[in-house]
Amino acid sequence: MKHLSHFIDGHTAISLSQRFGDIFDPNTGAVQARVVLGTPDDLQVAVASAVTAQKAWAATNPQRRARVIFEFKRLLEVHMDELAHMLSQEHGKVISDSKGDIQRGLEVVEFACGIPHLLKGEHTQGAGPGIDVFSMRQALGVVAGITPFNFPAMIPMWMFAPALACGNAFILKPSERDPSVPLRLAELLIEAGLPAGVLNVVQGDKEMVDAILDHPDIKAVSFVGSSDIAQYVYGRGAANGKRVQCMGGAKNHGIVLPDADLDQTVADIMGAAYGSAGERCMALPVVVPVGDKTADALREKLVAAAQGLRVGVSTDAEAHYGPVVSAAHKARIESYIQMGVDEGADLVLDGRGFSLQGHENGFFLAPTLFDRVTAGMKSYQDEIFGPVLQMVRAQSFEAALSLPSRHPYGNGVAIFTRNGDAARSFADQVEVGMVGINVPIPVPVAYHSFGGWKRSGFGDLNQYGMDGVRFYTRVKTVTQRWPQGGAVSDQSFIIPTMA
Ligand code: NAD
Repeated sequence: MKHLSHFIDGHTAISLSQRFGDIFDPNTGAVQARVVLGTPDDLQVAVASAVTAQKAWAATNPQRRARVIFEFKRLLEVHMDELAHMLSQEHGKVISDSKGDIQRGLEVVEFACGIPHLLKGEHTQGAGPGIDVFSMRQALGVVAGITPFNFPAMIPMWMFAPALACGNAFILKPSERDPSVPLRLAELLIEAGLPAGVLNVVQGDKEMVDAILDHPDIKAVSFVGSSDIAQYVYGRGAANGKRVQCMGGAKNHGIVLPDADLDQTVADIMGAAYGSAGERCMALPVVVPVGDKTADALREKLVAAAQGLRVGVSTDAEAHYGPVVSAAHKARIESYIQMGVDEGADLVLDGRGFSLQGHENGFFLAPTLFDRVTAGMKSYQDEIFGPVLQMVRAQSFEAALSLPSRHPYGNGVAIFTRNGDAARSFADQVEVGMVGINVPIPVPVAYHSFGGWKRSGFGDLNQYGMDGVRFYTRVKTVTQRWPQGGAVSDQSFIIPTMA
């Protein structure tokens, strides 16, 4: 059986840890590999290597750093098929979706290629007599990223592409459930010309995360995962004086106004609710039709469309989605379906008990659809993270607007309508970080930034775009005066002003 370990200083590093995590093939339910769950001693080796490598990397001019990033982008394209198969094999998402996962990361890599321009500072000439002021962005040093299972290519790249481009060294702690792609990305970076030690990958679980949060040489931590852990990481990292940004869970709503194009809306909701088996933080697991007429028409079309979905193994080119990531996660999703029934929601389609011939032990679930879900239900309040769509009927625009606004999560939201006035007003008022107008999954493009509100995001800088550059640098401002004609200025005991 394959054993995965750390990647430190440009090669695989052995750990003395006796703890291992199972990596499943979600299509068959079998354990296909094991990953070491590393120790604080392992992290110490990785950080020492990064501290040494970072100095020369930060001193490499930005254009040269950009060339390495650009070559990495080229290698991603060359290895797209290999990476997508590797990703699907451990995660379970279908190959086409794995390519999307890699592509969205690649687009952040492309953005990072512009780092010479993005790092330019500000300058004021003549701020006072003979005085100029300029500010520059400097790398933080060694920084770390802790990532979830559901985007094992994209989310590491959200983090390390800007971090490396800015001149930092990066310690990546990927999810222990699908660490192969992150390891392969690290190898490709070396092939692209990144000096050994500038990016190290450490494997592990809470013990390794805690070691990262407590390590004095790690200056910033970026985290993406579930909200309780995001909040914990934010608190412990900040208490240790680090810069921290933590993206958490989600429960995104799709509001459907009576004037929406229902066929297009249903097509959009299918992909957003059930794509990747619902294991996306920007999935759309709640649909809110306004008015019972809209709700009844929508329900009829949703049932027909969901019954037409094909659930298959991740290599099935015809499948709309594949298995969920683990047996434990499948059981958790099933328990939420039961909770919805017990809470009195109307179970229209039940995805439990689905079995794929020849893959009876795979972690598959058919589409589930609930109608008449209400805001007080726990199954509505919690993130389920599976192929489960909940319909909450609203009787007015205001009632529909208040649902996502009052929900504890605030990652993404979408509104489907032909009414520009209503859409604009909704986007303006809704208490959610990312809004789609007739766009079901409004993940911002690489040159904007990604971040949710409320329990979906802790910290004040978002992922990638200019916020990525801001997060991985600190500003230094220099105020300079050069002697003018040899005159000595008078002593002054007051705070300097521009008066
Ligand atoms: P998770 O919170 O279980 O794990 C995330 C990371 O935290 C992993 O690297 C894991 O090893 C580590 N971890 C797990 N338990 C820990 C603990 N007790 N202490 C410290 N670290 C711990 O999340 P997941 O199941 O891998 O991913 C799914 C979650 O991530 C969902 O909630 C989803 O909404 C969220 N997510 C959010 C975004 C976003 O940008 N907002 C993007 C993708 C996923």
